[in-house]
This record gives sequence, structure tokens and C-alpha cells, in this order.
Amino acid sequence: MQTSESLFNRAKQHIPGGVNSPVRAFKAVGGTPPFISKADGPYIFDADNKRYIDYVQSWGPMVLGHNNPKIRQAVIDAAQNGLSFGAPTEIEVIIAELVSELVPSMQMLRMVNSGTEATMSAIRLARGYTNRDKILKFEGCYHGHADSLLVKAGSGALTLGVPSSPGVPANVAEHTLTMEYNNLESVAQAFAQYPEDIACIIVEPVAGNMNCIPPVDGFLQGLRDICDQYGALLILDEVMTGFRVALGGAQQKYQVEPDLTCLGKVIGGGMPVGAFGGKKEIMQHMAPLGPVYQAGTLSGNPVAMAAGLASLNQIKKPGLYEQLSQTTQTLAEGFKSLADKHGIPMSVNYAGSMFGLFFTDVERVTNYQQAINCNTEQFNMFYHGMLDNGVYLAPASYEAGFVSAAHTDEVIQETLKIADKVLAEVALK
Ligand code: PMP
Repeated sequence: MQTSESLFNRAKQHIPGGVNSPVRAFKAVGGTPPFISKADGPYIFDADNKRYIDYVQSWGPMVLGHNNPKIRQAVIDAAQNGLSFGAPTEIEVIIAELVSELVPSMQMLRMVNSGTEATMSAIRLARGYTNRDKILKFEGCYHGHADSLLVKAGSGALTLGVPSSPGVPANVAEHTLTMEYNNLESVAQAFAQYPEDIACIIVEPVAGNMNCIPPVDGFLQGLRDICDQYGALLILDEVMTGFRVALGGAQQKYQVEPDLTCLGKVIGGGMPVGAFGGKKEIMQHMAPLGPVYQAGTLSGNPVAMAAGLASLNQIKKPGLYEQLSQTTQTLAEGFKSLADKHGIPMSVNYAGSMFGLFFTDVERVTNYQQAINCNTEQFNMFYHGMLDNGVYLAPASYEAGFVSAAHTDEVIQETLKIADKVLAEVALK
């Protein structure tokens, strides 16, 4: 039996950083990442057979908890009939109808294989539909790793985009404007400067890639109004929030209607699935109906669709999202009162079953600058203390945490008991 440590050493020989997605390498917090051998409900188990209460939940998909029996069975049943046909299937029709019913703004939609593909395709469609090149995003929001979206702000609200990764050509990045999250004024200024050039605004309706930052009152509706004023499209990137903060996503929770929506994570129930969709009139510009091209050999894959459908069929259960929100509130407020008890400055945010802990004395964190100014040293101490004691949080202070339906009150209380002990230790350092 290989331990996490020996597996990590072997992995580094043939996989850059030993991982297939960078954050898994634990660069931000240091140490060896546990290599996971199995998962069940709220728990994951590593190669050393240590059990952790998991608040990463595969970065969001497992809203019902790990190894859900109905999803597992649906995958086994689908696999009996063949893994991929590259031709249309009934289950694609069923899932499209169901997603449209749950998220009514998605009158038409297309399945893809990841959140990155969903946002990349939605942006291409917005550009193709409006005949405009620029896009507007927000500092600290992550929309996958497509070139035009891997851009962060330069200094000054209206600075043109600079790539945040080598390999993204400057003349691609220059079409991306990056504004401050929760700041409508900066968006209004950008549109005043480029009234006829901005194809779309893309936004995480609850930001989950700079820890967890919900929209302030009026922010999302303000974006909708500005888009209407200038003929731009509003794209809600609900890859994380879809079927997570409410059954109908953040657009239902905050009552804002996008032109296009991107989905991922929960829609695949743990299999690689994404989707984008929206108003029929816009979606009809997609090939083969229209000129905007997008395709995928494995898109709508029958095994992945079976997992997605089994996931969506279960989350429709009445009361599930109320339960998830309640559990998340108990957990987040529990962390906050323990931090208070130990004299550690902390602010917590939560929306539906997403939460974030900030080691800061800022009362309410609403943007990227505040998020990155938190005490990372305290976070890292807290992180490793929790990990040692069997609680698996996201291994970086800029990631949202997730609660699943399998996190019972008992599991939450066990987590808080451990946090009490760990925060006492952090307070002593
Ligand atoms: N958009 C958002 C809001 C995300 O959180 C993510 C992934 N964390 C993506 C897009 C990209 O999705 P994927 O990793 O499936 O490509």
C-alpha cells in the first residue's frame, strides 16, 4: 500500500507538480496533499486510510455528498449500454428539458465537458451575437482557463487587461476589461468609455474563487440594467452556484435574469459535464442553426448524462436547499463565534451551501483587495491544524468551502469541536 507521501513523490516524476490541476498540489498551504482512495457522504479517505470530513466536495459537484447510491447506480446502468456513441441520445433530451425547467432563463442549452468549455463557448457566442470584441469581468472572479478569461486587472479601474499567465497573447487579453467586484460605478465608467465595444459582462453571481463573496444588494440587477442600456449580454457564470445556492441557482436566489448562463459541477453529479444556455433567440446563433461554432466529441456523453440526471432528480426534493442553507449557516456562524471566543479576528460569508472564512478584522468582505489582505499565516496554521485533526478544507485561503446534504448536524458539531481546539492553538502562536 502506497502512502500519500510516496505517491506524491512518484507523481512528481511524470505529472507537473504531481497533480492534474494546480491547487491540488498544496502550494499555498505547504505540505503533502493527501492522495484520496475513496469517499462516502461527507467523508474522504486517503491512501493511509485516514478519514477526513470534507468541505471541498470535489470543488462543488457533490451537493448530495460523495458516492451517492443513486448516481453510482445510474452510472453503472448507463455503462452497460456502451460508453459513447457520438450521436444523439434520449437522455440528452431529458436532461435539457429538466435544466430548462429548473433554470427557466435557459430556454435552450448545450452540454459540454467542463466549466471552462461552458464559459469559453458562452463568450464566443456573446461576441458572435453582438459583433463586439471586448468583454468585462471582475477582479478575483475565475471563469476557467480560456485565454480571454485568464486576465486580471492592471492598476486603475479602466486599465486594459494584462494576461495573468504566460502564453496568453497580449492582443487577446487586451479585449478583457477587469473591474472591481461589487462596484457598479467602475462598470458604468467602462461602458461610458467603450459604449459600443463591450459584448458582455461575465460574472460569478456569488464569487467563489476569491474565498466566498456574495453580491451586495443591487449589484447583479445593476449589471443587468447597464447591459440593457448598452446592448451587451449578461452572462452569469453559475458553474459553482448553479444547483448549489438554490435549486434555480443564484439567478433565482437574487432574482436577476441573465441572457446566458454557464453551468458545471453539480450538473454532472461528479462526472465531467458543463453546459451553457439562455435565450432562444441568442442560442439559435449556435451551429448548426447559426454561424457561431462550438462542438465536442464527448459532449452529452451518455454515462456523464446519467450521473447528471440522477443528481438533478434528487436535488428537486422539497426542503433540500433550506436544509443546506441552515447547515451552512450553523457551520459558518459556529466558526465565527469560536474565533471570537479565542480572540482571533475573523469574518465569515455564506450563501446557500457555500461559505468562506476570512482571517481579518474587516467586518464584511466584499471584494478581492479585502480578500487578499487577510492573514494567510493564520489561515495556514488553522488549515494544517484542521487537516491533522481530520477536517479537509480547501487548501488555499481564496477558495469557497462547500457543505453537502450528507453533512449532518453531528458532522457539523464534530467539525466545530475540532475548530475550537485548533483555534485555541492558533491564538497561542
Ligand atoms: N467558472 C467558475 C465560477 C468556476 O468556479 C470554475 C471552476 N472552479 C470554472 C468556471 C471552470 O470550471 P472547470 O474547472 O470545470 O473547467
